[in-house]
Amino acid sequence: MNEKLSLILPCYNEQENVPLIYDALSQLLETLPYDYELLYINDGSSDKTQQEIEKVYQKDPEHVHFVNFSRNFGKESAIYAGLQNASGDYVGLMDVDFQDPPEMIPTMMKAIKEEGYDMVGARRTSRDGEPKIRSFFARLFYKIINKISETEIVDGARDFRIMTRQMVDALLELSEYNRFSKGMFSWVGFKTKYLPYKNRDRMAGTTSWSFSQLLKYSMDGIISFSEFPLTLLSWIGGLSFIASSIALLVIIFRAVFFGNPTSGWPSMIVVLLLIGSILTLSLGIIGKYVGKIFLEVKNRPIYIIKEKK
Ligand code: UDP
Ligand code: MG
Repeated sequence: MNEKLSLILPCYNEQENVPLIYDALSQLLETLPYDYELLYINDGSSDKTQQEIEKVYQKDPEHVHFVNFSRNFGKESAIYAGLQNASGDYVGLMDVDFQDPPEMIPTMMKAIKEEGYDMVGARRTSRDGEPKIRSFFARLFYKIINKISETEIVDGARDFRIMTRQMVDALLELSEYNRFSKGMFSWVGFKTKYLPYKNRDRMAGTTSWSFSQLLKYSMDGIISFSEFPLTLLSWIGGLSFIASSIALLVIIFRAVFFGNPTSGWPSMIVVLLLIGSILTLSLGIIGKYVGKIFLEVKNRPIYIIKEKK
């Protein structure tokens, strides 16, 4: 019997792309020596995505499977649902908007089978076609997170990747509620390779990520994979404690030996404001971590399934 490749396809409002990606993938996968499964995850789309998925399912129930969420839970949840429901010996993950080129799949499989990699992903070497400002912030984000986190997060690496069953099982062990896959893929370890490719525009529909969502996504990434903001706060606190202690000693010394003729209101107000703002900032950052802990301890399911086939 052939080994099986499962492809996880998260869809959020992708009615045009669902049949297109089916045609492209089934045509390609028929030529490969693997049994295959296309696992659509409908992440609470509000358009006709579910109907389209059911259409391809009717056409090819042997290869098509789907999980339909009760509402939009986000791509990270869709990825997790895919990993939990995929039955293949190899499991791939790709967007349905053709930004992840299907024709890379044979090369990726080859690297796994012949070169012994546990995971092969794709890395964009250019960000052409993306708004300049978005690329700038994306680059900045990767710089910062790689400085402050011990887990390497590869710049330009997309979620597009294929991995072995062993690696999927390792990922499933991480059942945290706040999921930042880009970090988790590298946290679990295993031998990994990234193949370069050029960025391309999505085929149909529009991207569902706004700038503020991307900002939130990066903050979540930093908080999930780094304690640096907390360390930084301790340093700021420690250093300002030392500095103010020295200043205090100097002031006492001066007052005792030379009297105290100075009036220092403006400087005092500035120092007060500074300390106040550092405290507020600290509370805000700590609050972010506490909020994440709150979400984790509630231990809610990561997604809810309405239908599965
Ligand atoms: N997606 C999803 N849930 C969401 C948002 C997006 O499953 O809440 C899917 C979407 O259908 C697509 C993939 O995730 O297959 C990537 O989304 P998109 O193309 O909007 O992101 P971008 O390529 O711009 O990063
Ligand atoms: Mg896209």
